[in-house]
Parts: sequence; structure tokens; C-alpha cells
Amino acid sequence: MQWTNFIPLVSGLVGAIIGALANAFLRDRSDRRTAREALVGEIARHASEILAALLEFFRARQIDGAGLEKWSALAALERALGQGTALEIRIFREFRARRVRTAYHRLLNRSEILKDALSSEQALSEKRFKTGTRWVEEQISESVRVASAAAGIDLVDRARLIFVGWRKVTLKDRQALSYDPDPLPWEYALALQFADPLPQDAVETIHRRSRDRIGDMVCAIHDRAPHVVLSGQSSNFRVEIDACCALFAEEVNLRFMGLGHAERGAPTP
Ligand SMILES: [Zn+2]
Repeated sequence: MQWTNFIPLVSGLVGAIIGALANAFLRDRSDRRTAREALVGEIARHASEILAALLEFFRARQIDGAGLEKWSALAALERALGQGTALEIRIFREFRARRVRTAYHRLLNRSEILKDALSSEQALSEKRFKTGTRWVEEQISESVRVASAAAGIDLVDRARLIFVGWRKVTLKDRQALSYDPDPLPWEYALALQFADPLPQDAVETIHRRSRDRIGDMVCAIHDRAPHVVLSGQSSNFRVEIDACCALFAEEVNLRFMGLGHAERGAPTP
């Protein structure tokens, strides 16, 4: 992870500390609630500005190649993302719930990652751009959803334990609570989250074999690649597949199965 990814988090934390002190002295609960409700509206409004800026940048590249329009569209997009970081500081100030903070942070991350994909040497196709914007939009709805819920009900206790309900913590839960950027929707990704340390060559073998097996898979309907997480003990791990639909997940699972058997017990020095 790049060090720049920490800037919004650190500045957010500073904002939260200052905000908490100010709130304790200056505000009562109802003020706080009103501020939260207003922020939810701002998240939605500002997210649509980011989407519009992404679209303009995409169009400018299509029309203009590497000319002036591209740079002014990119500048507008950077400004929109910068305002997003400013908004994030206020979100940290008003919301204690980690889910609200991570949901918005992930929204900015996804927009930033799509911006990078749009800026790369090879221009994105119309189809890929649509897949990318849908992926950002999903995070916008998620962010608005958790923020609205938190504006009414606080699900986080003061001991900073995260309440996920009375069920097993799923891959989606872990992703929702994480500040890490997620990979582009059409790019295959594999994450290893083993409890025990694994030698580097075993890690490389797992990456290579899984890439050989499922690295080229993309859902024919949704244009999305599988995102796979292996967790637990390396001798007895769990495979979680984050896929766009049940049909594709099944397809990925079938191809991945052989790997699961081959690797079980194998990654020992
Ligand atoms: Zn699909």
C-alpha cells in the first residue's frame, strides 16, 4: 500500500480528535444529529459530482487524446476528489461508527483507482468505464446507506468493538470494515490472509497456480473478474470468492477446487 493512502485516514483522525473536543463543549445531542443528517445529504450530493467529473475525464480522453481538454478535465476530477478528502474529515468528526468511515473511505479509494485506470497509457473501453462507474456507484449507495443508518442508530459501542450482528463475520463484513483499496472489478485478485506465516516461495506458488487456473476468468454478463481471499491456517484454509453473481461464482469455484486440493498441506517449507 502506498503511503499516500494513509493521508485521508490520518487527517481524518486529527479531525475526529478536534471534533470530539469541540463537540463535548459546544454541542448537544440534537445538534449532532442534525449535523449527521445534513452530512448524509452531502455525501450523496458530492458523490454525484465525483461521478460527473469521472465521466467528463473519460469523454475528454476519448475526444481529445492527450490534449488540453484532457488536462482540464483531470484537474476538475482532482479537485472533486480533494473535496472528498475534506468531506471525509467532517465524516470522521461526526460519525464514530467505523463502517461509516470505511464506507466513505472506500468510495474515495474506488474513485481514485478508477481515475488511475482512466489516466493510464491505454484508454479504457466504454464497457470497462461503465463497469468501473457501476463499481463506484455501488460504494456510493453503501456509503449513504450506512451513514443514514448511523445518523439514526449508533451501532458501535464505546469500547470500539464492532457490532456485525449475531452471525459469522463474512468476507463482505471484513471488506466493509477495511480501509484497504480494493482491486478494479475486471482485474483478477487473490489475497492471502493466513493466521500463520508462510514462506515466500509457498506464497508465490499459490499466487502462480491460482493465476494459471482462474486469472483469465471474467463474467460474460457483468464483465467482472473473481476476487478471492484465502484465510485461516495455511494447512487448512478457507476459500472465499467475491463474485458478481451466483452463476459466475460457481464457475470460478469449480476451476479453483483443483487448486484447493493441490495446495492443502503443500505449503510447508
Ligand atoms: Zn456475473
